[in-house]
Amino acid sequence: MFLSENGDGLISSKIDAASPPCVFRLGRKHAFLGSALGVALAFGVAGQAWSASFGDRQAVAASLALAEKAIALRSVAGPGNQTPQVAQLFRDALIAGGFATSDIVITPAEGTAYLIARWPGSDPSLKPLVISGHMDVVEAKAEDWTHDPFKAKIEKGFLLGRGATDMKLDDAIAIEALVQLKRAGYKPRRAIVIEFSGDEETTMATGAIIADKLSGAEMVLNVDGANGVIDEKTGKPDYFAWEGGEKTYADYQLVVTNPGGHSSEPRPLNAIDEMAEDLLRIQHYRFRPELNELSRGYFLGAAQWESAPIGAAMRAFAAEPTNEDAIETLSADPSFVGRIGTTCVVTEINGGHALNALPQRVTANVNCRIFPGHPRADILNELRQAAADPGMTITDVTAGSVETPASPMRADVVRAIEHAVHGVYPNVAVFPALGSGASDSMWFRSRGVPSYAVSPLFIRNSDSFMHGLNERTPIASVGPAIDIVATLVTDLSR
Ligand SMILES: [Zn+2]
Repeated sequence: MFLSENGDGLISSKIDAASPPCVFRLGRKHAFLGSALGVALAFGVAGQAWSASFGDRQAVAASLALAEKAIALRSVAGPGNQTPQVAQLFRDALIAGGFATSDIVITPAEGTAYLIARWPGSDPSLKPLVISGHMDVVEAKAEDWTHDPFKAKIEKGFLLGRGATDMKLDDAIAIEALVQLKRAGYKPRRAIVIEFSGDEETTMATGAIIADKLSGAEMVLNVDGANGVIDEKTGKPDYFAWEGGEKTYADYQLVVTNPGGHSSEPRPLNAIDEMAEDLLRIQHYRFRPELNELSRGYFLGAAQWESAPIGAAMRAFAAEPTNEDAIETLSADPSFVGRIGTTCVVTEINGGHALNALPQRVTANVNCRIFPGHPRADILNELRQAAADPGMTITDVTAGSVETPASPMRADVVRAIEHAVHGVYPNVAVFPALGSGASDSMWFRSRGVPSYAVSPLFIRNSDSFMHGLNERTPIASVGPAIDIVATLVTDLSR
């Protein structure tokens, strides 16, 4: 069941058997000539007409073969990190697909590497469109998986392997979409830059360097994060939620000190008790519920897939973010509490130095996910006020994160995403959302470049094992995903 080492033959026979939706989709797309494909054709310079889908069977096979080779490279931070080899692999694929060798630069950086490739546009006055991804993956232990995570495998219609979802398959799809457009003779007016960072899962340092180099870009399409959701019961696509902003990651260190003493002589003031009280006051503190245009779009768009009480609360909150009942319902659910404002929670505590001594020092880490628009210093002040303990010191110890505003809901971007998704899944709901984690998008947003998370793959929530065991993605999603990227790229670069 393993894919061939060199990619090709075996993969295409697998796809024939495993990917009927792709063939079905092609038929539907042709029936759709009047709208989606008609618009797709419209970008042809001087009436160039390339027919059919970009996500055809060969393109799917090429994407899977490239993803397979990338998964085989152990691009995990630490000794033996093969991210530089992934960069070479992607570079070779871009060159084979028509990119000029001189337009691709791989830069080594602290045990990893990053890649930036340019496709020049016909109008140099236009700022480039950036496609962003990353090549590194989270560690995976073969003994814990059902098979070797660094040997890709297709089984029951899924591509399995570390990076199948986050995000080597997305990388391969983005590359293949550009290659298909090049082959079709597409000539962008706006330059297109595709870049892959090399440490997104750990230090995120190369993402910051790339954002510096591309700070003059028009916008970024980040194919990492956000994605389409397949219905658990029907197996049909339900919705596509793209992300135009993300919460800011922050860590604050709390410290309480005390002269200490012998444990046989307890005192009224004990550093551990004091920290415990501070932390409980922080636990009970509620940050003001907030709404922005992204989260409003999310609540209104996604409400129909939630239970009746949650769905009603989502709609009520979207209408009026001071609605107490809605706040109470959403706050009580761990998957929604973070969507209605800043959250902070204690994640580590350390204190005391001997079993028979009064503690002299206690430290705690409070981890916050800050709603876009607030400086970290403001949240620090709120925590200090919530703890209400003049004896406690609090310090921002956040590493590798910057605070970012949400990117604007640009009409051209919203239109392009709807067009791209509806081109392959006509009836699927498309709406924005606010990301909860940090991605390379934050580096661009912090430099004033709008960034949008648009992983083009559709997957069931129950099949999503990013960072976890037995990561897998349905291969029936690959063909449509290539089309989605191709449409996004052309709509935003022509
Ligand atoms: Zn990722």
